[in-house]
Amino acid sequence: MSDFKAILSNIYQNVSKTNDKGTVATYIPELADIDINNFGIHLRTVNGQHYGIGDFNKPFSIQSISKVLALSKAMELVGESIWKRVDVEPSGNPFNHLSLLEIENGIPRNPLINSGAIVIADILVSSLKNPKQDFLNYVRDITGDTTINFNEDVAYSEKITGFKNYAAANLLKSFNNLNNPVEEVLDFYFHQCSIEMSCEQLTNVFFFLANKGNCLLNKARLTKTQAKRINAIMLTCGFYDEAGEFAFEVGLPGKSGVGGGIVALLPDYFVITTWAPGLNKKGNSKLGMLTLEAFTTKTKLSVF
Ligand code: GLN
Repeated sequence: MSDFKAILSNIYQNVSKTNDKGTVATYIPELADIDINNFGIHLRTVNGQHYGIGDFNKPFSIQSISKVLALSKAMELVGESIWKRVDVEPSGNPFNHLSLLEIENGIPRNPLINSGAIVIADILVSSLKNPKQDFLNYVRDITGDTTINFNEDVAYSEKITGFKNYAAANLLKSFNNLNNPVEEVLDFYFHQCSIEMSCEQLTNVFFFLANKGNCLLNKARLTKTQAKRINAIMLTCGFYDEAGEFAFEVGLPGKSGVGGGIVALLPDYFVITTWAPGLNKKGNSKLGMLTLEAFTTKTKLSVF
């Protein structure tokens, strides 16, 4: 671990010096107002060591990273029947792409693009008694951290700017792949995207995906096979139209969000989360990608 610590602090110093930090998301004020200089990393190994650097303790908007947690809850609740309603193919398109090819016959290409995540949200709205609160409790219970919360301002801003998400939900509805009212499903979806967590909290919550489905509190959250499936989907679909590039440069299952967070993991080995709000043209954190690329290059640890 002392090695990881030295490697990460060295990478942190180097990557911090990058002049072009990308641009923060501007579609809602809550993200547009974030200081682009925030930069944090947190790593936890399966054998219990952990290390954070920079702004690793500051909560940020997890946005699309939440899609993995929603998928995991849906897998726990309804199992394999998910795959009748969502496919598992990479999309090669931006997260909010809307062509009929993306939602072929009403079946979204995968659960980590918006149309697929909206179908997963529909499954959760159908299966949970108090969907928003139950989902928040699910995320909290994974590590026993009750400080994790929605940001209601973000959820509201998502709602009043979410025209493409309304379009996707309506398209899904027209194909009979949405069982609940559009408003209700999107209210859930906007709230899941608004959850705030720090790098350390995200690393800890995602730990079960690196640990055969067993969370930090040593409880089975998913079976080993289910964890494997989610990791496969993250590897092939976690970065929208940059999933190939992420596999090529970094070589880990991972998920990004437009808040500038990236969670990546090596099964049976470690989980690492980076946060730097400046995004590249594909909507993925610029410094986060650089950090993870340097980390897997220096440690030679990747799924390949
Ligand atoms: N809330 C955003 C949306 O649905 C999530 C985008 C993202 O992180 N890629 O548009």
